[in-house]
Amino acid sequence: MSAAQPPPDDRVRAYIGLGANIGQPALALRQAMAAIAALPGTVLTRQSASYRSAPLDAGGPDYLNAVVEVATGLTPEALLAALQDIERVAGRTRPYPNAPRTLDLDLLLYGDAHIDTPSLTVPHPRMGQRAFVLVPLAEIAPERVSPRQLAALTSQVIARIPPGADDEDLATGASHD
Ligand code: ADP
Ligand code: MG
Repeated sequence: MSAAQPPPDDRVRAYIGLGANIGQPALALRQAMAAIAALPGTVLTRQSASYRSAPLDAGGPDYLNAVVEVATGLTPEALLAALQDIERVAGRTRPYPNAPRTLDLDLLLYGDAHIDTPSLTVPHPRMGQRAFVLVPLAEIAPERVSPRQLAALTSQVIARIPPGADDEDLATGASHD
């Protein structure tokens, strides 16, 4: 029997935030979700709708964001490394903080773990200030977000893109006649 795939009971429920605002954001998010679902010992169990929002503390095009839930046997460090590999394949560069990005993958929550190392902080330190994280997270895991947290962020405007909508066009602001 192979030890590579842990039984489901050994898996931890983790939440990953996805964002993109240059290139083809809707395609980048779809491909990232497929890549996450294909990670070893990992099952993608839920995905939020996509949301569009203006950049916070930065210029550039609007962002497309989503959150997914996984059940994973990977350690938090291995999961972060795998997410960074997926970012790299998507052409991610880091020229300066908050630069526009083809793909950003943040590890938001890893079970109930609290982690604080030089390369990894979980829960993600800025998720509580970001509607584009908390609103899609609340959609798939309402028990992980309090109404008070959401109420504090209502000034941040984000638009939910209904699943099945032509999100490629919506992401670029294109309209049909
Ligand atoms: P940001 O997403 O904050 O705009 P980056 O994606 O460039 O910035 O990430 C910068 C660094 O943040 C990464 O090198 C990574 O090691 C670190 N980091 C710390 N905690 C986390 C986390 N929970 N999820 C993703 N990256 C994290
Ligand atoms: Mg990041």
